[in-house]
Formats: sequence, C-alpha cells, structure tokens
Amino acid sequence: MIKLFLLFIILSLNFQASAQLTPFEQNSTQNVTATYSEAISFYQALDKKYAQLKLITYGLTDIGIPLHLAVLSRDGDFDPAEIRKKNKTIILINNGIHPGEPEGIDASMMLARNLLKKNEIPANVVICIVPIYNVDGSLNRGNSRINQNGPENYGFRGNYQNLDLNRDFIKSDSKNSISFQQIFNFWRPEILIDNHTSNGSDYQYVITLIQTQKDKLNPILSGYMTGKMVPYLYTEMEKSGFFMSPYVNNVAEIPDNGIEGFLETPRYSTGYAALHNVIGFMPETHMLKTFSQRVKATYLFMQLTVNLVERDSKIITTNKKKADLNTAAQTNFTLNWKLDTTQLAQILFKGYEARRKKSEVTGFERLYYDRNAPFEKQITLRDKFVPALEVQKPIAYVVPQSWEKVIQLLKLNGVEMKQLKADSQIDLDMYYIADYKTVERPYEGHYVHSNVLLNRVMQKVQFYKGDFVVYVNQVQNRYIVETLEPQGDDSFFAWNFFDSVLGRKEGFSAYVFEDEAAKIVRNDPRLLKQLEEEKLVNPELTKSGSLQLNWIYKHSIYYEKTHSRYPVGRLMNNLKLDLK
Ligand SMILES: [Zn+2]
Repeated sequence: MIKLFLLFIILSLNFQASAQLTPFEQNSTQNVTATYSEAISFYQALDKKYAQLKLITYGLTDIGIPLHLAVLSRDGDFDPAEIRKKNKTIILINNGIHPGEPEGIDASMMLARNLLKKNEIPANVVICIVPIYNVDGSLNRGNSRINQNGPENYGFRGNYQNLDLNRDFIKSDSKNSISFQQIFNFWRPEILIDNHTSNGSDYQYVITLIQTQKDKLNPILSGYMTGKMVPYLYTEMEKSGFFMSPYVNNVAEIPDNGIEGFLETPRYSTGYAALHNVIGFMPETHMLKTFSQRVKATYLFMQLTVNLVERDSKIITTNKKKADLNTAAQTNFTLNWKLDTTQLAQILFKGYEARRKKSEVTGFERLYYDRNAPFEKQITLRDKFVPALEVQKPIAYVVPQSWEKVIQLLKLNGVEMKQLKADSQIDLDMYYIADYKTVERPYEGHYVHSNVLLNRVMQKVQFYKGDFVVYVNQVQNRYIVETLEPQGDDSFFAWNFFDSVLGRKEGFSAYVFEDEAAKIVRNDPRLLKQLEEEKLVNPELTKSGSLQLNWIYKHSIYYEKTHSRYPVGRLMNNLKLDLK
C-alpha cells in the first residue's frame, strides 16, 4: 500500500515537472513544436498553479473552438479598464497566425512559465498571449513548408476556410479575426508582437524584424519607436548573441542589391494595429536556421521587449494617450503610401556570397548561397514611404443600416455611433465610383478593387430611422477613415463590401426609349449640345446609335441615382441631426 502511494507521489511529481516543461524543451533535439492541445493544456496548468496567469476564451475560430488568451498580471488584476487606470502598459503577443511558423508558440509558453516561476512579471506591464491564433491551421499538421529547417511537424498556413489570417484584419472573413479584434479592442494594448518565420534568401541572421512602417505610424509613436525602441532591441539582441537585421525584402534576387521597407497595410496584423495607434513588431526568424535557434531568438526578442516596456512604461502609455488625442483631432488622412525610391540609407549587412553552379536536376545554372563565404558589407535600404493619396475627413459619415457587416466591424473596433431618430433627407457629399480595377482571380476569397476613381456630388439623400452616423472626432478616426474611404488600399470597398452598388437595376428597351429620348432632347436643347460636345472627344460615341441613346438615358431623370453611388455619405457641415 505504502509502495503504491509512493509510486503515485513519484508519478504525480513527474507529471508536474513535465507539465512545466514544454514539448520543445523535453525533446533532446529541440526540433518539435507543441500541438494545439499541448499548448492549451500547458497554459491551463499554469492557470491552475499561479494566480498571476488567467486563461480566458474569446469568441470562436472557424473550426468551432474558442480563441484563448493567456494574461499575465503581477497583481492578479485581469480587468483591462482597471489596469489602464493603474497606468500599466499592455503588450499583446500573437502566435501561430501562420502555424507553420511556430517559434512564438513554444517561446511564449516558456516565457510565460519563466516569468511566473521566477516571479518576474513586471509590476507595470501586463502581458497578453494568444497561444495559437490559427487554431484550424494548427490542427492540420504536416510538413507543408518544404524549404524550412524544422520542426518535425507543424500546422498549415491556411485556416479552415483556407484563408491567410494575416490578410484578414479588415475584411474579417474568419471568426478568428472577429475574436481577435474583440481581444484587441477590449485589452487595447500599447504594443503588439506577431511572431513569424521568413522565407527568402540566405544570410547570417537568425532573426529579422518588421516594425510598423514608421512613416504611416502616428509621429509621436513613430519617433519613440525608431529613436528608442528599435535601437534598444537591436543592441540588446546583439549583446545576447543574436544579430538582427531589418526584414530582408529584396529589391532584386539577392540582398546584395539592396532591400526595401515592408509596407504592412491594414490587412496585416501590425497594419491593423497602426490604425489604433499601437506599435507593432513582426519578428521573422529565418527558415534555414535550426528550430532551436529560432525559438531562442524569438524568446529573447519578447523578453527584451518586456524589459524595455518595463523601463519605459510611463513614456509608452503617455505617448499612446497623446497619439490618441492627436488622432481624434486630425483632419487629413493618408489613405495610400508609396516608397520614395530616392531616399537611400546604407546598412551593414551580414550575408553569404551568392554564387552560381549547374543544377543537378535541370542542368541550368542555379543560385546558391555559399555558407563558407560569409561577408559583411554595406547594402542600401530604402524605407521612406510618402503619401500617395490623402483625404480630408468629413464631419461625419452616414452609413445606412443595411450595410450590417460594416456596422458590426465599426462597433467591434470601438467606434462610437449614433442613430437617426427619424427618416430624414440629408445634404451630403456623395461619391460616385467612376472607375476601378479588379483582380482577375480571387485573392483571399475576394475580387479586390484598386485604383478607384471618384466623382464627388452634393446631393440630398434619403435616410431612414436607425441609420448610423459616425462622427470623425474619435480615437478610432484612422480605422473609420481608412476603412470607409473607398480609395483606401484596404478599404471596405476594396474588399467588396459594397459591390452590389456597382450593378444597375433597371435599363431601357431601345425601340421604346427612342421616342422618349427624342422628346428629352427636344425639351432640353442644352443636353443635345452636351451630347454633340461629347461626340467631338469620343469617336466611339459618334459611331454608335445605341451608345448615344445610352448617354441620353444616363443623363435623364429616369437614370437610377444609386447606380455606382457609394452608399456611405459624407456630412461636410455642422448640420444638427436628430440623433439617439
Ligand atoms: Zn508569417
């Protein structure tokens, strides 16, 4: 009996010990990553053991499983409103958005455990960890990243809808995205870390870094990020043996020819975060380095970020508050950005010589990187982006209630909205979609629009009780403007939310309309003159009777005003609306 009891004690001690080691640490080769259930059980065990960690679920993912968030809080306070009152800084860490790039999953488990075990959660920092974001993809394990050096098995990039979740932050096709935005807007972090692994050319660095594109980030945040945070992270990573490079976004085939900054528009995690004045980091470990090195580099990067945020917590929270006030008062917004190719910087780069040899497979010449020929040399970095398109904000946007997904997303993102108390006709600045390009094949489930051209018209438009009015005087201004202005690269219009307005609902039969058209031009000689002028510049029109008839139809009172009219109106004056 005593023997049995002892055996039980030994077994349970073993169980406890192993529960505190990650599968990565337990494996002698350190070439394994936790499965979804291993990761969640690990955090559940920490939650049970420590009052400073709470594992919470938010919403669902596309595979019907809730999204988890592990929160580490030194004083055991898990209410973000209370935490903000205490002027603490919140870091949100996202893992497994691409489950085939799993370093962050294992590194975060180790970081959470170590902070708890050593009692090292900073008093002024709360750390929120999404253990695995793409739950669906992480369950679909295999070896789908052919060029990657481990781990043995890992999840798949696509989620249950085969979506790349790192393109889904605006269109929000997945439940994962909705649940993430719930977490993001409830916790309202100051810093986001989204962990990845990169493909591409070979070089000496285990880890490279994309930080929020500095020019499109609020200048208060950007100044601190580029002046203090990024230099600290590079220096401290190097001191600990991990030299870091800006993300190697090649201009040409090899990095020797220069690299460019990466513009993460709002569809990406850090691009989305920037709309909320949140500084974002995407560490990208290199696929050819061992998994063990990659996990260690990711761990170190997160630990250093925690250390830095602990040191500068006051500055970071103050900056965020200032940036938010600044955004609420901002009048002009940049919708799209372009690289300024004339602005070059030189950076020291630790690469491998790129050489050519004959391919064993095809016999053609092939590229390879000679790891026996490391080099350090100056290469060019172009990372200055300038506005490509700016817009002046209206006083408010009026959004008909029929566009329900738009309303839901605005609400989810903390946008304050009022509703019309009664049916009303309102004078608004309306956009007509004059032209746009559309991709030929679907991208991430959408026929994305770009190069949108608009005609602006002041019109009296009928709205109905319950339609929404969104004043552009909020902390969420960037989210509001960049999603609702149809010319934005990642606007709701670009992602097909408003495609139904592009279709015409009525038309005419030529033989019937002929007589009516004759009457129209008889009664309106000015229109006839306009048509004649149009014919002078448009030879196609001159040659075609049906085009001329169509032209008259489009300029008549019969033509539907709503065709190609963007349904969200812009209120340009301080007109008092009856709102609830
Ligand atoms: Zn990735």
